[in-house]
Amino acid sequence: MSKFDLPYSQPIAADKKILYINARIIDPKSGYDKLSSLLTVGDKIADLGENISAKDAEVIDCKGHVLAPGLIDIQVHFRYPGQTHKEDLETGSKSAVVGGITSVVCQPNTIPTLDSVEVLNDLHAKAREVAHCNVRAYACITKNMKGEDIADLSALKAAGAVGFTDDGLPVMNAQLMRRAFENSRDLGVVIAQHAEDLNLTNKGCITEGEVSKKLGVRGIPNISESVIVERDLAILEAIGGRYHLLHVSTSEALDAIKRAKEKGLAATVEVSPHHFMLNDEQVLKSGTNAKMNPPLRSEKDRLALIEGLRSGLIDAIATDHAPHDLPSKEKPLQEATFGIVGVETMLPLSLNLFHQGLLSLRDLLAKMTCNAAKIINFDGGVIERGARADLVLIDLNHEWEIDSQKFYSKSKNSPFDGFKVKGRAIRTVVAGKTVYEF
Ligand SMILES: [Zn+2]
Repeated sequence: MSKFDLPYSQPIAADKKILYINARIIDPKSGYDKLSSLLTVGDKIADLGENISAKDAEVIDCKGHVLAPGLIDIQVHFRYPGQTHKEDLETGSKSAVVGGITSVVCQPNTIPTLDSVEVLNDLHAKAREVAHCNVRAYACITKNMKGEDIADLSALKAAGAVGFTDDGLPVMNAQLMRRAFENSRDLGVVIAQHAEDLNLTNKGCITEGEVSKKLGVRGIPNISESVIVERDLAILEAIGGRYHLLHVSTSEALDAIKRAKEKGLAATVEVSPHHFMLNDEQVLKSGTNAKMNPPLRSEKDRLALIEGLRSGLIDAIATDHAPHDLPSKEKPLQEATFGIVGVETMLPLSLNLFHQGLLSLRDLLAKMTCNAAKIINFDGGVIERGARADLVLIDLNHEWEIDSQKFYSKSKNSPFDGFKVKGRAIRTVVAGKTVYEF
């Protein structure tokens, strides 16, 4: 039985007390990890510890399961406005809370793009009305993502943009990136890059390698990603500001970030579950449902990404949830649209790293909570007194099989169909309210 609820258009009463007992509470930021209880009052965490009691509180027995800060996915495409036949704020956020995600950051490559205060305000207003989770957004770096004129970043920041990107497209013009970093430095906001040299990509559709050769399709070389990252980091070093690399896919780009971090530059990086779970051979099995940008890379790259997660070099995990309808995907590989859905599978796929003993639960959850929050200056991703009551209850050992036809997303484009996974969100709480129960 599943249950959904809305946290903002139908908010919880300000004095409503809920006591979560028998919970293994994990706060990745502080390292707190103890079988204890947690009290929420209204939309805030009021108390936690081993001997908490509260009069008139509703009691929820967590039966020893993990209670963590709600997950934060800093890269989703919910297709509002403009392509709501693929996804909208209601279905996208419903899909997110099923995956244990309580906050998302929408990308601005919508129709129209999020390059004006008016469009951004409309998205925020719509989200408060229909969304099941917190919805934030990046705004565009350049007007209409054309890569020609810089948008009014100051006004967009004031309207609530968490940072800036032209995601879907790179900012190819180095002079505009310089301007973006000047804004980043002066406004204290992050510039997030979809790193891809379009000339090197040269209309490639999957990674350049054995599989592209075998299929006779044009490949996207690793340097398509890394040359842009190297360039951006050189500009960052000269100008200042803060840089975030979206969906890293190659060992070369990761090396560049490593060198930048060693120099003390303000650079962060995220990876998507598909890039550390799959290599380009998956294209032979899943066809266009394994086509995304950046593409699935070689096994060598995949292992470098896992090592990056393990060592702490990679700060965050984000899905790049990119819903597409069947007509966009039922095409030859060269012509099909890039992207796969991801919010319902992020947690179970990532837990694979924990079950394999590669990452501790704390370190893994940090990449989807406090670390992600820090990149976008978001006041969430923690369990502490006074923090927002955004929580996820996780059954680490629930074994199940991914079935894309059962996704709550409007779109079903996933290469993980039929994958057997272990662990899932069994309760998701946003602003003090249970918005989903498995
Ligand atoms: Zn992208």
